[in-house]
Amino acid sequence: MRISQLAQQIKESPTLKLNEEAMLMKERGAPVINMSAGQPANKAPITAILGTAAKLKTGEMKYTPVDGLRSLKQAVIRYTEENYGRLPAPENVIVSTGAKQAIFNALFSILNPQDEVIILAPYWVSYPEMVKMCYGVPVIVTPEDGTFYPRFEEIERAISSYTRAIIVNSPNNPSGVMYSEALIADLVDLCERRGIFLIMDDIYHKLVFDGRQHTPAYRYTTRDIDDSYIIVINGVSKLYGMTGTRIGWAIANRKLVEVMTNVQGQITSSPPVISQAAAEGALTGMQSVVENLRLTIQNNRDVTLAELRSFTDVHVTRPDGTFYCLVDFRAYSNDSVELARFLLHKALVVTVPGKEFGAEGHLRLTYSGSVKEIIEAIDRMKWALDPNAPNEIYIGDRKMIRDWL
Ligand code: PMP
Repeated sequence: MRISQLAQQIKESPTLKLNEEAMLMKERGAPVINMSAGQPANKAPITAILGTAAKLKTGEMKYTPVDGLRSLKQAVIRYTEENYGRLPAPENVIVSTGAKQAIFNALFSILNPQDEVIILAPYWVSYPEMVKMCYGVPVIVTPEDGTFYPRFEEIERAISSYTRAIIVNSPNNPSGVMYSEALIADLVDLCERRGIFLIMDDIYHKLVFDGRQHTPAYRYTTRDIDDSYIIVINGVSKLYGMTGTRIGWAIANRKLVEVMTNVQGQITSSPPVISQAAAEGALTGMQSVVENLRLTIQNNRDVTLAELRSFTDVHVTRPDGTFYCLVDFRAYSNDSVELARFLLHKALVVTVPGKEFGAEGHLRLTYSGSVKEIIEAIDRMKWALDPNAPNEIYIGDRKMIRDWL
């Protein structure tokens, strides 16, 4: 059987494997705690549910325009005006089946074979794989100072005549850090001078802590959207806890949106109509749901940091946003896949190996669950790894004794 060489190069995600193992253990009754989820725990906003129900009632389950329902695009335009201070035209907006498809459409529409895309480590796992799927070459820039904050000079040094795009995700999955305004300003300037697309993956832009605010890249350009190299990606997955709805969008110059729409039209035709109604409900409803989620997660971040502080030789960079932190476990292991598996089996806690994000020796922890779960999960991890932690622990009603250190 002959299978595409390119497709075979696309990596299987070790996360999914670990999750499968965790699921099996859970089914067998093990009290597994999941610190690996890429989603908040809250229910969808009531306005999303009502929007969906109203659509269902009409019985109209037909194709929609490829680039999304007019009414949803209007909601995206209002959202952009409110949060970005820019008023896109409908021709600047394309709604897709998740931010994931929006990013893929953008990459597929701008890359020729061998073109390069700069990705800043630590990075969301799908970026390099998507670039490869478009016959492009991912160029990873890893901060030389060992932090999660790339320096402008490092990014500039990675530019070649093949560079077509830079992907920026701030606040960042997996580290939770938000890049400085100066870095974003410099990147906008660089991309405009060199004719390079700047893909701003803003999927976590409202989940920012400590009174800080995400700065839109548009703030640093006077160019009109139609004259701009900035592509803004967003969606309802993270801010509204609607990951399964699969609605995201891109805002870009109309020429690119036209090409992206042709591409999407040959793949998914349009995003599902029911999901579009749900997303419209979320965007036009009470936005306090997002603020409530942000406050809950900020509190969870504080609890997570406090718990990790008493974990011997473990280091964490304080997250500015998202619901992730990327914790340095190199004092215990340099093999994050092994370490994650060890913690799953010994402590019944699911984490994500940093190797997947270009940060070997680290584990990504999600703190979007309950405070009780967070405290219990970190206690269990300490018990499994930290020689200074108590030797015995109760998991459920089972007394566990550490006998491997
Ligand atoms: N970008 C980043 C950085 C993400 O973490 C995710 C989800 N894990 C996405 C994009 C994809 O979002 P969606 O569910 O809208 O496809």
